[in-house]
Amino acid sequence: MRKHIFNAGPCKLPMPALENTAKAVLDLNGIGQSIMEVSHRGKDFEAILDETIVLMKELLSIPEGYRVLFLGGGASSQFAMIPMNFLKTKAYYLNTGTWSTKALEEAVMYGTDKAIEIATSKDKGFTYIPKGYEMPKEGDYFHITTNNTIRGTEIHEDYTCNIPLIADMSSDFMSRPVDVSKYAMIYGGAQKNLGPAGVTFAIIKDTLIEQAATDRLIPTMMRYSIHAKNNSMYNTPPCINIFVVCEVLKWLKDFGGLSEMYKYNKAKAEKLYNAIDESKMFRGPVVKEDRSLMNIVFLLEDQYKEKEADFVKFCGEHNIVGIKGHRSVGGFRASTYNACSLEDVDALVKAMQEFEVKNL
Ligand SMILES: *Cc1c(COP(=O)(O)O)cnc(C)c1O
Repeated sequence: MRKHIFNAGPCKLPMPALENTAKAVLDLNGIGQSIMEVSHRGKDFEAILDETIVLMKELLSIPEGYRVLFLGGGASSQFAMIPMNFLKTKAYYLNTGTWSTKALEEAVMYGTDKAIEIATSKDKGFTYIPKGYEMPKEGDYFHITTNNTIRGTEIHEDYTCNIPLIADMSSDFMSRPVDVSKYAMIYGGAQKNLGPAGVTFAIIKDTLIEQAATDRLIPTMMRYSIHAKNNSMYNTPPCINIFVVCEVLKWLKDFGGLSEMYKYNKAKAEKLYNAIDESKMFRGPVVKEDRSLMNIVFLLEDQYKEKEADFVKFCGEHNIVGIKGHRSVGGFRASTYNACSLEDVDALVKAMQEFEVKNL
């Protein structure tokens, strides 16, 4: 029996994507070779890469002048590649959690005077999104993390910024329509909401790629210009991972695209947040207006704290997996990514209610 999967990453994937991948692992389109055996330079894989890019451009309405790249190294490598390529005089970072802190740390290596933390929500355990600070007016770029996977906060709008806006969208990419024209770059690890671990996506404006620093030694593999020039094929790309991404995008298109997905994601999150708010046993630590639609973080009220492991076990007995909070914060986290269904959420809500009746 398939479990109710709430893992934060690698995430639950839609069944049609898994089934089609299973087939392609044995025999891709009846050509007598596995997706893992075909040449990345052959026409079969080329068609998959092209289709993936076309689908992404279509679903996100990516305007002219942007490149879609598939890279290795995870979002974590992007934390380093971004300042390596683009930090010349000054870059600004909005620090909203663990991942933004890591991104900022990579930029700080170029000088504390060059990497500026423009605002942070660290004072309250990253339970809100800072607001009211002045947007940077000059500088190489402004880096934000749109969804904070560990703390469960999310920026629900596309910021308007006069300098290139770079967004780590690892965990809310493709969860809602996005005005791509407001960003110079959007990137993330695929394993949160797009596919399996092992491939990193980057949507980059051509004009940003052209602005890369020329006064330093940037290893070939770390240059966006090289990956753009070679259409993500400078070296061997992660072929099967890209295949899965393509299948996930096809499923998303069949679902009705991003506006339908967004409605569904809101419905799931609302159901779960309502259950948390109505409960006497559980509570949500995040400021309501900044609550993530993707990673729903909740805790036991202090007097029930010792029941944390019991609840995880109780969920396990009801086929619910992946609700343990990140090891750095504890509590619980239900990741309601695109492939997570309303039925999964219903099962979790029911388990919470039953657990409460038994233990209150
Ligand atoms: C998981 C995560 C990362 C790190 O991704 P890797 O692909 O494991 O390097 C970065 N940013 C966010 C927002 C994440 O959720």
